[in-house]
Amino acid sequence: MSTAPELDRTTATTSPEPAGLFGTGIAVPAAADLPVEIPVDTVGLSPDDKARTKVITSAIRRRSQELRRDHPVLRHQDALGLTAFSVAVLGFVGSGALYLTGALPWYVTLLLSAAFAAVGHEVEHDLIHALYFRRRKAVRYALLFGVWAIRPYTINPVYRIRLHLRHHAYSGLPDDIEEVSITNGKPWGAVRLYSLLDPYVPALIRIVTTRPKDAEDALWRRTILKASIGLTPVAITIWYAFLGLHVASWLGAAVPTSWLQVLTVLTVVWVGPNVWRGFCLHFISSNMHYQGDVEQGNVLQQTQVFNRWYLVPFQVFCLNFGSTHPIHHFYVADPFYVRQLMERDIHPVLAANGVRFNDMGTFKRANRYQMS
Ligand SMILES: [Zn+2]
Ligand SMILES: [Zn+2]
Repeated sequence: MSTAPELDRTTATTSPEPAGLFGTGIAVPAAADLPVEIPVDTVGLSPDDKARTKVITSAIRRRSQELRRDHPVLRHQDALGLTAFSVAVLGFVGSGALYLTGALPWYVTLLLSAAFAAVGHEVEHDLIHALYFRRRKAVRYALLFGVWAIRPYTINPVYRIRLHLRHHAYSGLPDDIEEVSITNGKPWGAVRLYSLLDPYVPALIRIVTTRPKDAEDALWRRTILKASIGLTPVAITIWYAFLGLHVASWLGAAVPTSWLQVLTVLTVVWVGPNVWRGFCLHFISSNMHYQGDVEQGNVLQQTQVFNRWYLVPFQVFCLNFGSTHPIHHFYVADPFYVRQLMERDIHPVLAANGVRFNDMGTFKRANRYQMS
């Protein structure tokens, strides 16, 4: 179900108070550093749900083994991870270079680079689960920073490890900071829509304009702030300067042409593809995960398969995330391309065991799992 071990409920420390802005619902670790291995509490699940989960997980594991048997190349996971990393980086840089030489118009570069950056996002996610170079942490971290370089409008990937493992441990609960941060569970409106495009600035504004509720809330705020040091503020500055100075120029202000040119190049070849890619990923992810009333540890309720044909324009820029990510919640040990290969065989198993498909009512319910 997750890389994290199961935990008996009696050993889990839960806070009786409602969580703050970034509250986690568990005790603050004594050390300043937060744990990356989060125990998963599945004790409260019904025997039926546990049995269905086991059927799905076993089917995925079996299919995973069959694929490796039938396609031996899949056993070279480190080499495939390095290949995916190279495709992402070289494709992103190459697309930008072709724009600079005049071979590609800006909109082709923007979309092409967004697709290559999406490959980078999947590589990052697989590295977070240590699916490549499991015993070579230095290589994993080097690759993580490599994919951050082509996706500057994201947080430091090393900090994302903690947030993402927490996502698996507390998926669908208010403690699932990663999903809550990209609008999951919020009522629809202008703020939610804008936050899909840029979740970082609204989050930073909330952090600096509200007070921490408790020490735990304060700890997570500091973590988010520290995770944002590095490329994130650079990308934010380029994006808003690009928008602001172009608007100022259209309104007649004397903005130096060289500034506009530099900002346009940086936006087309580096930041802009990631704004669009981020929007697509956040839109799909924040609607295919349930939030707010999911049973702790119940993978059947954590996600839906979100793959209607009209979602394709978004799925292209997050590598079919809405269709394959539910498989990952049940079994984290496969890289993104293996999930894609088994999608057709596993979807019927998901459907037969109660995982929802294309539940569009989630928009009205602000991601609540319960239908009423
Ligand atoms: Zn994951
Ligand atoms: Zn997820």
